[in-house]
Amino acid sequence: MKAAQLMGPGLLEINDVPVPEIGPSELLIRVGAAGICHSDLHLLHFPYKMREEPLTIGHEIAGTIEAVGTGVDGRSVGERGVVYLCWSCGQCRECMSGNENMCLAAGRTAMPPCPGLGPEGGMAEYVKIPARSFVPIGDLDFLQAAPLADAALTSYHAIRGAREHLQPGATAVVIGIGGLGHVAVQILRAISAVRIIAVDVGQDQLDLAKRCGADITLESGPDTAQHILDLTSARGAEVIFDFVGVDATAQMSVQAVAPNGAYRMVGLGGGNPGITAEAAGGPGWPWGASIRKSYGGTRNDLVDSIALAQAGLVTVEVARFDLADARDALDRLEHGKVTGRAVLVP
Ligand code: NAD
Ligand code: ZN
Repeated sequence: MKAAQLMGPGLLEINDVPVPEIGPSELLIRVGAAGICHSDLHLLHFPYKMREEPLTIGHEIAGTIEAVGTGVDGRSVGERGVVYLCWSCGQCRECMSGNENMCLAAGRTAMPPCPGLGPEGGMAEYVKIPARSFVPIGDLDFLQAAPLADAALTSYHAIRGAREHLQPGATAVVIGIGGLGHVAVQILRAISAVRIIAVDVGQDQLDLAKRCGADITLESGPDTAQHILDLTSARGAEVIFDFVGVDATAQMSVQAVAPNGAYRMVGLGGGNPGITAEAAGGPGWPWGASIRKSYGGTRNDLVDSIALAQAGLVTVEVARFDLADARDALDRLEHGKVTGRAVLVP
């Protein structure tokens, strides 16, 4: 089968590899679509990966069950679904409480195994997965479903975790209207009555934010924090979701968050969270405001995300590419030429 494999720093190749053999507790999935996340770009350039190359990347996977392990009950060939990406231990206290994204077995600062980071991922014709990671999608289109596995899951989790800040009329800022951000705007619109300010460097992205339901769009720059203060009677935004995570957006957020507000850092843009943490404890940080690094989401967050898509409340803006063009799609993402989510079809 064909698979998009990371071969070394900056090196992605489409290779012929054997179809995976499944164990008793696994499923073989025929991939219908695989989303490209900005994290795949980080993976290409920085040492986020959990093992040596070659590594088939791709953690946003939708497809059909092709084969069922001998020990698996309740799943059958032909079922359609998405792959829940936290392949956590399932045994620790956090997993038992439903917080699989906080699996204690992963260690204090690491994340649980994720397809395409350690185990082989889904930018391929087939992928093997733990049976319990399969979540049915009914008749949702694969191109729509694949990005739910991360772009929607992670956005939904960050938003759900900040729900006490989403009072009617509160201001929520979404920074970075890419794959995650444009879904986050729709989720906020669907589940709350907040005023949404969308921030990005690109006009196409800001136009997309408007179509997704943002009330106000701002071009990202040195004055953005002041603009947010001007729009909030100098109080600041009740919640800021940062889907970029670079120094500039961290600084902007520190300067624009309201007292008792929340800054949620989702982007892994190599921003120095040290700056943020320092500022968050320092004199410029408002009383009562909180800061949280947000990773992935729970299985239930994925189920809710699927329900939002099925209800037509979340529609992913998809840029479709053939698997063979994975390199080109990643290049386009890197250069800001993807609006919405790039999704590969094997
Ligand atoms: P993306 O490339 O699709 O979107 C990023 C957006 O940010 C683009 O629209 C870009 O124009 C915009 N942007 C870049 N610099 C900006 C700036 N200075 N100010 C405002 N906007 C700016 O990326 P994505 O796939 O949506 O991922 C976003 C980030 O979230 C990445 O860093 C990714 O690795 C990370 N991520 C984190 C998790 C998690 O669990 N924490 C999960 C998935 C992705
Ligand atoms: Zn991702």
